Amino acid sequence: MGEGELEALEGEVAQQVRGLLKALVIDVDNDHNTAETAERVARMYLHEVFKGRYHPQPKVASFPNVKELDEIYTVGPITVRSACSHHLVPILGHCWIGIQPGERVIGLSKFSRIADWVFSRPHIQEEAVIILADEIEALCKPLGLGIVLKAQHYCMKWRGVKEPQASMVNSVVRGSFRTSASMKKEFFDLIRQQESLL
Ligand SMILES: [Zn+2]
Repeated sequence: MGEGELEALEGEVAQQVRGLLKALVIDVDNDHNTAETAERVARMYLHEVFKGRYHPQPKVASFPNVKELDEIYTVGPITVRSACSHHLVPILGHCWIGIQPGERVIGLSKFSRIADWVFSRPHIQEEAVIILADEIEALCKPLGLGIVLKAQHYCMKWRGVKEPQASMVNSVVRGSFRTSASMKKEFFDLIRQQESLL
């Protein structure tokens, strides 16, 4: 999305949020606390919490796997900040990513950058890990890939059933982590060690 398009969209979102606030009988014209809320919320959605929909993917350079490394490595915890598609309230947690390298490799910090970009959109957790896995596969085509995501959903904590401690854990495994039971076990064993350090 181009700079001009994004600016126009920001104006439109602000206008619609103002309409929502008015429908909620919040007096944006006279309450100094909410006078600028519509513009603030529009900026927050477009440039922060949902930036993954409107801003381009962070640049990630990949390199040939010169040493033909084929041992598993894992990275985490990577902070997960997202929002649920159903209620637009936060999903907060952590994810762990494991790789058996293929022909190309990417820098360790790039996993955090890609995860932040993917999660900064409205999601349901079951699909978010799949979208992240697709992006990582496209970037470095690993022989094996696994992602574990553990998150708390504010639509469960703040409203609804109001369970403050409940979390959701899900995972995706691909390539050798799916076809080889020993590779899969090694991946989850490594993740477990990282998680216990939290
Ligand atoms: Zn929800």
